[in-house]
Amino acid sequence: MPAEPTVRQGSASAGVATSTLHVRLDYVRSHYSAEVVAQLLARATPALRGLLEAPPSGDGFTELEHFLALNELIQELVGSGDGAVVRAMGHFAARHNASTWRKIFESGADIPTFMTIASGLWHHHYDSGVLHLVQEGPSALTLEIRDFAVPHRAHCLSVLGWLEGIFEADPKHLVTVTERACRALGDERCVLALSYRDAR
Ligand SMILES: [Zn+2]
Repeated sequence: MPAEPTVRQGSASAGVATSTLHVRLDYVRSHYSAEVVAQLLARATPALRGLLEAPPSGDGFTELEHFLALNELIQELVGSGDGAVVRAMGHFAARHNASTWRKIFESGADIPTFMTIASGLWHHHYDSGVLHLVQEGPSALTLEIRDFAVPHRAHCLSVLGWLEGIFEADPKHLVTVTERACRALGDERCVLALSYRDAR
């Protein structure tokens, strides 16, 4: 059995909640055959497979590289090479907690208030970086993923899909999420833009 790599490339590191791994395994289980699930587990590194097979724990964290490897493996198995499945899994993760988001929206939160609450939950998922909000007018917000130690397309596409998913729980607004820039594509910053209007 090959040894697990223990040396990181460079000094950058980030952590991710193990629940994010389990939600992605749930996505594969609910969208694909048992054979695909078996292939996924067979091709995962021993460390990743151990995390996936462990009982879900509410507040455990692991290294981001396992999250990235899982996303890449799922893309190899079922993706079309454009990141769509990574984005879809971010969307699925958000829909997983739809009742939580709906309660916040039904309490009357507008989009900036909601995003302030949601960005405050960043550290429940990642132990690196922050989601920084800037109001750009009466119906637009930009979100910048700042200081994330390991910029990666799988991470930003996950956040993009997650945002698309949470706003589906809002009965009062129509929200469009657009990616403006990404450090993993050579840009200086990772920026997402929200534009919104009343759903009437
Ligand atoms: Zn990015």
